[in-house]
Amino acid sequence: MATTAESLRCKECGRTYPLQALFVCDYCFGPLEVVYDYEKIRRRATKERIAFGPPSLWRYADFLPVSEKPAVDLQAGYTPLLKADRLAAELGLKKLWVKNDTANPTHSFKDRVVSVALQRALELKFNVVACASTGNLANSVAAHAAATGTEAYVFVPANLEIQKIIATAVYGVNVVKVRGNYDDVNRLCTEIASEKNWAFVNVNVRPYYAEGSKTLAFETAEQLGWRAPDKIVTPVASGSLLTKIYKGYWELGEVGLIRRKEPAICGAQAEGCSPVAAAFKEGLEHVKPVKPDTIAKSLAIGNPADGIFALEIARRTGGVIESVSEQEIVDGIRLLAQTTGIFTETAGGVTTAVLAKLAARGKIHPQDETVIYITGDGLKTLDAVADTISTFEIDPVLAQFEDQVLGSGAAAGAKQLVSE
Ligand SMILES: *Cc1c(COP(=O)(O)O)cnc(C)c1O
Ligand SMILES: [Zn+2]
Repeated sequence: MATTAESLRCKECGRTYPLQALFVCDYCFGPLEVVYDYEKIRRRATKERIAFGPPSLWRYADFLPVSEKPAVDLQAGYTPLLKADRLAAELGLKKLWVKNDTANPTHSFKDRVVSVALQRALELKFNVVACASTGNLANSVAAHAAATGTEAYVFVPANLEIQKIIATAVYGVNVVKVRGNYDDVNRLCTEIASEKNWAFVNVNVRPYYAEGSKTLAFETAEQLGWRAPDKIVTPVASGSLLTKIYKGYWELGEVGLIRRKEPAICGAQAEGCSPVAAAFKEGLEHVKPVKPDTIAKSLAIGNPADGIFALEIARRTGGVIESVSEQEIVDGIRLLAQTTGIFTETAGGVTTAVLAKLAARGKIHPQDETVIYITGDGLKTLDAVADTISTFEIDPVLAQFEDQVLGSGAAAGAKQLVSE
């Protein structure tokens, strides 16, 4: 069946372009975005059709810029939405859910964007895929390239967490560690993209890549019984994820699958790389680039491509973009783990800590139906919490267990939380 996507359109001046590997407007250098025939989607995408679709992000293929029955399929998406009552109680909230996107094939939400980008890249007859990554994208591009037998080049900052380097190189792709930060890596990749006929998933096929994030909103609405929550909290790196979650809820209203509603969209950054949160706080219309310095490496983009759009959406929907300290990130990881059973990487620590801050400040009310997006797995950033854990070590002797563990007074009760 033909795609419902119609064209690419410049977000600044509105000029349209064909559905090719294009990402910036020739006239004003604005970013390009996919536009759809919503009448066509409305006719095609019924709740029944979606319910009978595959248990992956492709159940929403009607909303994505892919033209054939998608061949690229690692079964990304359709991750659990968990009611988080213990976390809610800890924060004085009543109606909180966690969208657990650690439950993806390479353990981050990047599998959504890469599935769509690679599908479109193969439709456009590219033979080589590549990316500039803060880590999770590298894992995902490598896995999707391996699964489809596509040659791949993955560019990462040289100081990336070792877990993320290993979980990329194991797929047998070319991993290039660049001595510089993400913004340096991205600049290099933009140069290479202009030389080589390669599909850089987050550069020249970025408009298609970005659409994959909408499926986080689609799934959440479906899992809530076809409605949008009141508030959401999502991490912000380039700002693409936040803007596309917003677009996802908007589209569901547009095609009549949910009652029209704009959730308040809240963004989360680490203080060590918080250009969008700073612009929000200072009431600026633009985002001033920064040099990142934070343990939340997957969010360490100092010059965020979609920063101004994220800023605009947070303001318009009554949301906020907030930042948290390194200590709060670690506390956030531990709080989420100890109240929900979900172990997240530093990005999820940022999100949980911002949720806690907004709840404490009354910016999120107890009765607000709130969804937080947990986008990556804790096994990817073990170092962040390695110093905070405690264990017992004994000989295999009952008396030692009784004395040194039970008798120590240090054994953790099931309810003992980080904050106590
Ligand atoms: C990439 C990433 C994000 C944010 O993505 P943007 O679309 O660039 O804002 C959030 N969380 C994790 C774990 C990521 O890897
Ligand atoms: Zn333009």
